[in-house]
Amino acid sequence: MDWERVRKDFPILDQKVHGKRLAFLDNAASSHVPEPVLERLLTYQRTEHSNIHRGVHALSQRATDAFEGVRTKVKDFINAREDREIVFVRGATEGINLVMHGYGRKYLKAGDEVVITTMEHHANIVPWQMLRDEKGIVLKVVPITDDGRIEEDAFVEALSERTRLVGLVHVSNSLGTINDVKRLVSLAHQRDIPVLVDGCQATPHMKVDVQDLDADFYVFSGHKMCAPTGSGVLYGKASWLERMQPFMGGGDMILSVSFEKTTYNQIPHKFEAGTPAILPVVGLGAAIDYLETIGMDRIAEREASLGDYALGRLKALEGVRVFGPDKDRASVYSFGISDVHPHDIGTILDQAGVAIRAGHHCTQPLMKRLGVPATARASVAFYNNEEDVDQLVGAIEHVREIFGV
Ligand code: PMP
Repeated sequence: MDWERVRKDFPILDQKVHGKRLAFLDNAASSHVPEPVLERLLTYQRTEHSNIHRGVHALSQRATDAFEGVRTKVKDFINAREDREIVFVRGATEGINLVMHGYGRKYLKAGDEVVITTMEHHANIVPWQMLRDEKGIVLKVVPITDDGRIEEDAFVEALSERTRLVGLVHVSNSLGTINDVKRLVSLAHQRDIPVLVDGCQATPHMKVDVQDLDADFYVFSGHKMCAPTGSGVLYGKASWLERMQPFMGGGDMILSVSFEKTTYNQIPHKFEAGTPAILPVVGLGAAIDYLETIGMDRIAEREASLGDYALGRLKALEGVRVFGPDKDRASVYSFGISDVHPHDIGTILDQAGVAIRAGHHCTQPLMKRLGVPATARASVAFYNNEEDVDQLVGAIEHVREIFGV
């Protein structure tokens, strides 16, 4: 694979910031959109756009085909069984909130339990706390090991007759840990407990097969996998989606409306009230085409090799502590440099042209577990190269010089 050729699909990378070559290593927050996806967005908006599902005219049909075509693409991409198991949402956050409203608010009662883990993103914590405050459910949190892996015994212990849902991140956005979701799902299923998997950091980097994982719900965001912001997916087994109540009411999610009574549309439309984010969804379809043209296995290999290089170089630096496990990890590296505040690290790196993230990465309880207020985080995508990593390492050395650590 000619990775330098691939990199040219992302002209945004070819620029200087603060007079320095840009090394963009903040891909876990949001990835970039390659030229073929940008072209598809322009073509759609220039020649195919109209509102979908309702119109009898040609453009409306074309737009509907474009939109619904992406549903099939997503279905194939994650190996769902049917198109109707794919619900378009704005992103993973909305997907999890939809499950909280559609399933949690309808079926959970005081004393019922939801089990999550210490390494969840706020998106998979706060909705369950809202449900706790509303319904009196119990939120149980499974601890993690010092190197950032879920404690399996504690996971099994946390499951009880009152557990109604497990919420689990597939790949941690802060630690890079790749959780053994298939195994954890099977442990939950032994007790008939459904599992919602937050796949935000998995779908951009590896082949995901929801049937193989046997997840009941799986959410992800388009903007982390080469699509623009505004598109996301909630996959749900049809049997679950059918039992759930709608999240929002309005146009398109109904079969008939009178002032006395409304009957809801079939899944997935029952969950897609109003005009959806048509353009971002079209972009998500083009992004899937793009990723599949390269091949998810090749992307995973490329990121593993760049990631090993980055991890090796970071670990060789004195005073640098890298969080997370040594193996079964994605190319996301949270680190600290002695007692230098991560925001100072981020600012100095920015001056050197290196874009990383500094903060709690929407995982404040995880930061507490790690015993730090925040971390610096470099996240590598397939369109990065060794030069980006070297620039990162050079800039970290500069931080150490400045702070004398
Ligand atoms: N979960 C994880 C693991 C994430 O990395 C993110 C994005 N930072 C989210 C959930 C939320 O995604 P979004 O903001 O796109 O809804």
